Amino acid sequence: MNCKIDYQAPAGLLKERIILVTGAGDGIGRAAALAFARHGATVVLLGRTLSKLETVYDEIEAEGLPQPAIFPLNFEGATLKDYHDMAETLDKEFGRLDGLLHNAGLLGNITPFAQYNPALWEQVMQVNINGPIWMTQALLPLLETSPDASVVFTSSGVGRKGRAYWGAYSVSKFATEGFIEVLADEVEHLGNIRVNSLNPGATRTRMRATAYPGEDPETLRTPEEILPTYLWLMGPDSRGHNGERFDAQPPR
Ligand code: NDP
Repeated sequence: MNCKIDYQAPAGLLKERIILVTGAGDGIGRAAALAFARHGATVVLLGRTLSKLETVYDEIEAEGLPQPAIFPLNFEGATLKDYHDMAETLDKEFGRLDGLLHNAGLLGNITPFAQYNPALWEQVMQVNINGPIWMTQALLPLLETSPDASVVFTSSGVGRKGRAYWGAYSVSKFATEGFIEVLADEVEHLGNIRVNSLNPGATRTRMRATAYPGEDPETLRTPEEILPTYLWLMGPDSRGHNGERFDAQPPR
């Protein structure tokens, strides 16, 4: 297992870095965005619910951290033009991108495949893999401009070993694991971009509570407790690691 849960991130680890976090309004994405900002990064908060992004923005401002940016975007309706407009805006504002955490995710239904709704299947694939892939394509020139860029895709245990009833969610995470290998291999020769996958493991969030309604949330690590591997992957200490799979916590 490739896990850095004991990593002690130095205070200025992400100073001067521009890092985009998707799904930054809630759960793990919110905690990661705050932690990146607390370690010196300028964070771009992307998500579908503006009010949640504004709350995270206000928290960052209240702590006197580098001023963040907000980018409302819903992967369900987003078009290629939206991704390219976003890249243009980021280019004008910052001129480069040093970190990209693909964290937004949709669970879909946990149900036998025989009953899986095709429209929901498409929706989950759109949010979990297709949208993030085309967004990454639009952002590649900005990542190439960075001296040290880290792209992290969020996976899951069911993206590494299939499990009954997990349907599109599981398949989208397998696709994620495949995609990071393809892209990592393509950018390897550039030397300044790394692309890895990260499985958060069981974490106390809304999505986990929906997937496991009978579970006591108090038995789970909080988003804040699983962040050392996120910080390690976004900072310079993970240089040279490309196309690898990481876990944010040891198996339970
Ligand atoms: P949450 O449901 O708490 O957060 C998911 C985030 O994704 C929210 O901010 C949500 O926005 C955003 N999002 C959902 N759909 C869209 C969309 N269409 N467009 C843009 N943003 C969207 O989940 P977690 O924090 O638990 O999950 C974060 C990641 O970790 C996911 O990729 C998940 O698959 C993965 N994961 C989580 C585990 C866990 O135990 N929690 C275990 C393994 C993997 P909004 O708040 O507006 O709904």
